[in-house]
Amino acid sequence: MSQAMKILVIGGVAAGASCAARARRLCETAEITVLERGPDVSFANCGLPYHVGGEIPTRDLLAVQTPATLKGLLNLDVRTRCEAVRIDRAGKRVEAKNLVDGSSEWLSYDKLMLSPGAAPIRPPIPGIDDARVFTLRSLEDMDRVIAATEAGMRAVAIGAGFIGLEMADQLQRKGLSVELVELQKQVLPQLDAKMTMLLESELRHHEIGVTLGDGIECFVPTPDALECHLKSGKVLKADFVVLSMGVKPDTQIARDAGLTLGPRGHIVVDHFQRTSDPDIYAAGDAVETAELVFGDRIALPMGGPANRQGRIAADHMLRPGAAQPYPGSLGTAIVRVFDVAAGVTGWTEKRMREANKPCASVIVNDHQHATYFPGARPLTLKLVWDTRDGRVVGAQATGSEGIDKRLDVIAASIQGKATIDDLCHLELAYAPPFGSAKDIINLAGFAATNLRDGLFEQAGELPFGDAQIVDVRPKPVADAFPLTGSINIPFPTLRANLDKLDRSKPVITVCAFGKMSYFAARVLAQSGFDVKSFSGGIKGNIDPRSPAKLPTA
Ligand code: FAD
Repeated sequence: MSQAMKILVIGGVAAGASCAARARRLCETAEITVLERGPDVSFANCGLPYHVGGEIPTRDLLAVQTPATLKGLLNLDVRTRCEAVRIDRAGKRVEAKNLVDGSSEWLSYDKLMLSPGAAPIRPPIPGIDDARVFTLRSLEDMDRVIAATEAGMRAVAIGAGFIGLEMADQLQRKGLSVELVELQKQVLPQLDAKMTMLLESELRHHEIGVTLGDGIECFVPTPDALECHLKSGKVLKADFVVLSMGVKPDTQIARDAGLTLGPRGHIVVDHFQRTSDPDIYAAGDAVETAELVFGDRIALPMGGPANRQGRIAADHMLRPGAAQPYPGSLGTAIVRVFDVAAGVTGWTEKRMREANKPCASVIVNDHQHATYFPGARPLTLKLVWDTRDGRVVGAQATGSEGIDKRLDVIAASIQGKATIDDLCHLELAYAPPFGSAKDIINLAGFAATNLRDGLFEQAGELPFGDAQIVDVRPKPVADAFPLTGSINIPFPTLRANLDKLDRSKPVITVCAFGKMSYFAARVLAQSGFDVKSFSGGIKGNIDPRSPAKLPTA
């Protein structure tokens, strides 16, 4: 009788637990051992901010499994507070240290899974070791932050990426006074700047102090606060600080074992999650893998990829011939801040341009469902495509409702290698409470193909130089929210007022959402004007809560 396969998993949360569970479902006889350094296994780390704010009311809801439940459900040998400290590749064994009693033992494996995740970055800033400076990765970290919220009311969140925004939102919901600091000049730097305006406005609307384009210089303890000294000289007083400055792969054990790592320390894996050692697999935040659109290399610390990669690793360990390769990571992500959501899938325009990949983009505005149905809420969608073949490479969306749906549809379209023409023809679920006969995704396809086909040109970048700015919004709207430097000719009156425009000067048409300005641009272009439509309209370019004033620089 052949011996049972020994599968050893290092790290028992997203990728590790997914691998172990799949392995058990494929093989009842395998000996599956999971080593987890922390006290908790398979917990919901994505839910941590929401328990800090109290929106997830009970801590137990986050502790999805325990070693006992995993023993019962999956017959796994899960050892918490047990750290893998060394891999002996030649001997196919791992040294495991019991963190409770300090004892060590060597565990042998046939297949080893590395899913150690990533650790929050704590740069060597003076004062960063103060006990009031927290990061968030584990349930224990969360407990410490919650204890801090009970001891003081002033929080500074450093880093306005996904986790930083969630923390700012949750701490404010809990009644704390919150300051958010971000090194880049926009919140959520993972998105193109214009697509984050609504988020920033929502943060300020909820009285969160937002400091952009500034970094932390040092932390200074004083009798009444922990002072956060920023590079600009600004000082924020805090009772505690939450750092969300990104993560770095927790891969020292793989480095020590001589496995191939990428330039930033991620474990390099192939499409079946195999490392440079054929008996060692890796998945999750610790790995660098293929990128879905262009096949570049990417490291993406996100829950979806981690879980799916863990499953693929188990497939390949136990039925290599049938395992399906990992197609690559896309980077689909979303965040909610109070009443606003924003997210991204695939490539942003910024990233495409930095990588010198030819691209074009449109920004379209509409509502999540028919405007005549009660509860219609505006949303904005930015579509990015490769101008060589029209393939959709990315999208960003922001608004209150229906953001996830649009990102998901476009994520699936990108995976199916859809072009901007395909988006025009996507047949999506429509009845008035759910959508529109022409969904905003179709509209994005229309706008993109119109642009490609030369039916209009768009003015996206400010300033507009000496162009005539023609505001085609209705007069009452233009009077209420005047647009500095423009002349107001409401669209229905445009054809009768062409003589008001100087034919020797270029024209830029502007409206609230970018749709009427497109219609107006078509009228003017066919009347011989050199005309561009302001992409995304006022809504897509100007803080929706401030008077409509186009920035001039
Ligand atoms: P982890 O889940 O981090 O698990 C790794 C585990 O390995 C850790 O528990 C660690 O203790 C253990 N370990 C490390 N080294 C050893 C060792 N030598 N021996 C034993 N054990 C070891 N992603 C999303 O897609 N959407 C979200 O909304 C989202 N929100 C998040 C919110 C927060 C606060 C955090 C922290 C993350 C969030 N993520 C989110 C990211 C997501 O949780 C991670 O991408 C995912 O958990 C990565 O899975 P992993 O298995 O690679 O690593």
